[in-house]
Amino acid sequence: MNAETIRDAIRDVPDFPKPGILFKDITPVLQNAELFRGAVTLLETFCKECGVEKIAAIDARGFLFGGAICDRLNIGFVPVRKQGKLPYKTFEETYDLEYGSATLAIHQDAFAPGEKVVIIDDLLATGGTAAATAKLVERAGGEVVAIGFLVELAFLNGRDQLQGYNVWAPIAF
Ligand code: AMP
Repeated sequence: MNAETIRDAIRDVPDFPKPGILFKDITPVLQNAELFRGAVTLLETFCKECGVEKIAAIDARGFLFGGAICDRLNIGFVPVRKQGKLPYKTFEETYDLEYGSATLAIHQDAFAPGEKVVIIDDLLATGGTAAATAKLVERAGGEVVAIGFLVELAFLNGRDQLQGYNVWAPIAF
């Protein structure tokens, strides 16, 4: 599946969730079996090339891709969740995002020491979410070998927050 074909299916929703935000809606990709499978394959191929041992996926749309990749590669899945959702002992990081601020959490026992982790989310905007996730993975003992997104909003320069990491997205706006 061509990344361009997936790109064409992503819908712009103006002023969501707040005035001035142009939301990139990936649900048209998810609801089409070929497009969804194609998107998973792009990310799966990248993860494999990075020598991934475990995926850390970001609440909530990162779970959709992360879970599918883990099934394909027969590796474990670690959810990085919004504050208050994980039941066991957690590490937490608070950060700014394009619209507001948030706190993310990870289970303290998520990784074996030095385990090779690829972080997965649907979209890179300002980079705050992924940067906080990278800190959480490292605090929990994982090694961040890459950070993969389906989509990157390049004009927001999110990569500036992720310097030193291998950052990849097959689709850019
Ligand atoms: P950021 O921390 O700014 O990189 O925000 C990334 C997170 O917010 C991702 O989980 C995205 O799903 C979501 N997000 C931020 N901005 C947008 C946008 N314009 N369109 C779609 N999702 C967005």
